[in-house]
Amino acid sequence: MRRFLFLLVLALAGCGVPAGYDVYVAAEDWNPSAPAMRDRAETFRQVSRAVGNAARAECARQPGGRNCDFVILVDLDPFESPNAFQTLDKSGRPLIIFTQKMIKSARNGDEMAFVMGHEAAHHILGHIARQLEYQKEAARIFGEEARAQGAGPEEIDLARELGAEVGRRSYTKQFELEADRMGTVITYAAGYDPLVGMAYFGRIPDPGDRFFASHPPNARRVEAVLETVTEMGLIQ
Ligand SMILES: [Zn+2]
Repeated sequence: MRRFLFLLVLALAGCGVPAGYDVYVAAEDWNPSAPAMRDRAETFRQVSRAVGNAARAECARQPGGRNCDFVILVDLDPFESPNAFQTLDKSGRPLIIFTQKMIKSARNGDEMAFVMGHEAAHHILGHIARQLEYQKEAARIFGEEARAQGAGPEEIDLARELGAEVGRRSYTKQFELEADRMGTVITYAAGYDPLVGMAYFGRIPDPGDRFFASHPPNARRVEAVLETVTEMGLIQ
């Protein structure tokens, strides 16, 4: 919605919408004109190539027969808040999308690689589909429990909604830690240092150990990375 409003404002201001604006562009084709972004873009293109290859290889190694043909994109809207996420296109191809503010907020290639590896891991581990299953299952259990206690249709609906939310929140944290672990493996395979990359956690707000936080505490995530590099024999 915000995006639509922004475009509307641009149109009303009479500047029109510049061609190709407000779309995603492949990392490989991203050539920002702002001098301050040029070096970042070069690093980002290198990271995309290396992490893209490492993610495809890791994906092919895992069971599940998923589409491993990752595409890495940049959101051309310079106002979009710092974010990186994964989704699927209509044909089921995995997309990893970075906003420009996210690319700017990374201090080095290791941090970009770490975030990208983490997003790729969400796809390889099938988190979108698994999360939907958990949500449905928790909604069903909460609904049945409400019914068993004699709740009416509206209360049962509310209980289902609450169940879906509880299911979503509780599994999101588990998925984040799983993605941090596999993301560490991908980052290293791509030639970047996950221990440098994970410094990114130190700069994002710590959700703390609250049940309704969508992410685990940063300390828990750092621990997951350290355990993984220890298992890989990179540190003792
Ligand atoms: Zn995540």
